Amino acid sequence: MLSQSNSLLGLDLRELTNLATESGQPAYRGQQLFDAVYRQKLDRLDQVSTLPLEYRARLAEEGWGVGLPAIARKFVSSDGTVRYLVELADGETVETVWMPEGDGGESGDGSEAGDELDCVVAGLRPAGRGRAPSPHVHRATICVSSQVGCAVNCRFCFTALLGVKRNLEAGEIVGQITAVLREQGVEPPLQRVNIVFMGMGEPFLNYDNFMKSVRLLVEGVGIPESRMTVSTAGIVPRIYDFGQEALRPKLAISLNGSNDVLRSAVMPLNRKWNLEELMKAAREFPLRARERLTFEYVLLAGVNDAPEQAREVVELVRGIRAKINLIALNAGTELPYRMPEQERVLAFQRILVTAGIPTFVRRPRGRDIFAACGQLKRTVDVAPGEESKSTLSS
Ligand code: SAH
Repeated sequence: MLSQSNSLLGLDLRELTNLATESGQPAYRGQQLFDAVYRQKLDRLDQVSTLPLEYRARLAEEGWGVGLPAIARKFVSSDGTVRYLVELADGETVETVWMPEGDGGESGDGSEAGDELDCVVAGLRPAGRGRAPSPHVHRATICVSSQVGCAVNCRFCFTALLGVKRNLEAGEIVGQITAVLREQGVEPPLQRVNIVFMGMGEPFLNYDNFMKSVRLLVEGVGIPESRMTVSTAGIVPRIYDFGQEALRPKLAISLNGSNDVLRSAVMPLNRKWNLEELMKAAREFPLRARERLTFEYVLLAGVNDAPEQAREVVELVRGIRAKINLIALNAGTELPYRMPEQERVLAFQRILVTAGIPTFVRRPRGRDIFAACGQLKRTVDVAPGEESKSTLSS
């Protein structure tokens, strides 16, 4: 098995160009490698037909490979969502979720990135030139992991139960996406694929690799940054850094509590960066034209879902061009919280909407296969009665 240091996935154009010229190859070989790995999404060096045979052989001798992560398991939900268990070079696994069709964005699976456009463009773009539209080109959202496990320890999240094992390399973040796009047979142009950095891990605790993966996705894979959203639990210093990036996805912040007492109880991280610091960073975040900052709010029955708490949220976000995604808890036996009644969710939403804040209730995706928000914990189980839908892909 190839070690991560020998993986071409994760190297940018400059690094690939250096790799080529260091072996006495012309500089344009770097671009050829870049196209092969990111645009064509090839998984083997010997398939890179643009390169001379001797150079392919030399790269292989030096231990270089594409480094595409393997899809170890695949679970298909009754709603079309697919949860992939993706295996990395060192045998660690992370989860990546494919959500076909988005959901119009209003219910906030993150695919709202191009809402305005989608409302106007009714027809779907065919994959590849001159081909009839195929089911593969429908809009879809890929939810990608940034770490093996997570260190943040939110009380309502399953991933927290794993602790953090390690950061993902940029190539391992991009590799989840190229592996899933390959598996789904999606070809450029990728104008309708949304990426949400909302899988396992805290992207802002793996900031440099996360940002490098963004650049590779934009420049290499061809996914526009306007189609990407990153969610943070609230790593305040990185929110400031992120605001300064020339090329960046949209920002979502996991709020989940309407005052410090509540938020610290469900997100211990709030003791490090409290609501005052978090909301200051949010208020100062340089939004682009027509961009909104998203706040996610996981509703926990009887804990943070009262009308009074909705009114506190209204005060918190006052003055920010924001929208709010409400997520009813995806509950589970290891968690001390319950899912709220639909009535409570709608009442909470009504208060925010009445105050003029666009607020959406996120439709749970793939709950039956443990693919929904906060459910990613590398389980190979599926909900009772769903076994038949899970398949081993390789
Ligand atoms: N670490 C980042 C990225 C994860 S995004 C972050 O915290 O923002 C995942 C989203 O799902 C977060 O908004 C999180 O608050 C939410 N979430 C976590 N556990 C959940 C659960 N059990 N049910 C519903 N939403 C959950």
